[in-house]
Amino acid sequence: MAVETIFSKIIRKEIPADIVYQDELVTAFRDINPQAPTHILIIPNKLIPTANDVTEADETTLGRLFTVAARIAKEEGIAEDGYRLMMNCNRHGGQEVYHIHMHLLGGRPLGPMLLRQ
Ligand code: AMP
Repeated sequence: MAVETIFSKIIRKEIPADIVYQDELVTAFRDINPQAPTHILIIPNKLIPTANDVTEADETTLGRLFTVAARIAKEEGIAEDGYRLMMNCNRHGGQEVYHIHMHLLGGRPLGPMLLRQ
């Protein structure tokens, strides 16, 4: 049984968030702890905890994450220079909130994809 996170409350507007886009399938809002000049989270309104829980029934919704990301990137003025779309899964992926979300990061050169250790 999936457990709701703070993101469900943001979708229902029960707690404040800087929502930049919302439709019947997805919601996008600014990350509270931005890692780049533009850092927006795009999430399905339906609770899907992790990438491991995705099914074929979610394909339309998850496809919407990409079309909304492209739209927001244009609105933010970062489409031409480029940006990064990222999803973390479980502990090794560094996932903190168990409501699947796409990070849209941009506004500066983002460097290598992974920190070297
Ligand atoms: P992840 O590590 O991929 O699970 O990312 C979770 C992200 O959610 C982090 O970048 C947090 O800064 C962000 N976050 C957590 N709570 C909130 C919130 N209330 N509003 C906006 N972003 C949040």
